[in-house]
Amino acid sequence: MASLNWSYQGNNGPDQWHKLYPIANGNHQSPIDIKTKKVEKDPSLGHLKITWNLSTCKEIVNIGHSFHVNFEDKDNRSVVTSGPLTGNYRLHQFHFHWGQTDDYGSEHTVDGAKYASELHLVHWNSDKYSSFAEASDKPDGLSVIAVFLKVGPPNKHVQEIVKALGSIKTEGKKAPFTNFDPSTLLPGSLDYWTYHGSLTHPPLFESVTWIIYKEPITISSEQHIRHEKTL
Ligand SMILES: [Zn+2]
Repeated sequence: MASLNWSYQGNNGPDQWHKLYPIANGNHQSPIDIKTKKVEKDPSLGHLKITWNLSTCKEIVNIGHSFHVNFEDKDNRSVVTSGPLTGNYRLHQFHFHWGQTDDYGSEHTVDGAKYASELHLVHWNSDKYSSFAEASDKPDGLSVIAVFLKVGPPNKHVQEIVKALGSIKTEGKKAPFTNFDPSTLLPGSLDYWTYHGSLTHPPLFESVTWIIYKEPITISSEQHIRHEKTL
């Protein structure tokens, strides 16, 4: 996806994004603060049906301010369906957002409270579109599953990822990352919030059905990815 010159800080930071991307002032922008007292229960929404095949996990890539774990997405081996979704959404990649300290880092907040980190598992509508790129600006194009992380006991599955970061120390570097099962990063309770929103960084397309698990998972402070100084 082409992107103009934006960043998370300074002259091109989030409060300036609307100049390059007018949709930043749109009505369906993410992230949001989830006000739990205002959430409406929709009895027609069932559990999400997740089928993630670990054979589709492909590589880990340093993209400068962060890293992506990319998945093979040329067929429907790894998809989510049901819940708020109509049809199959294929797993494309996952990444984390984090802060400089353990006090903040999540993009969404819950009643104003921030978590240390937030995992985003990015999917695209493979019933209607032929690629992530084609789906990324369509209202029903994407679905992102979000999981909050808080500091607590260490997490052996996150540790596999932290270990792999050692082989992608500089921007643009990639390394094979295979046979990882992302469902090991989900919480025990599969209760979720859902709303229609946007990508949280430019180009900010309002194309995302967000599915946000209510229960966080834990990582130790040592596992917090901010410790990886090169990212
Ligand atoms: Zn994200």
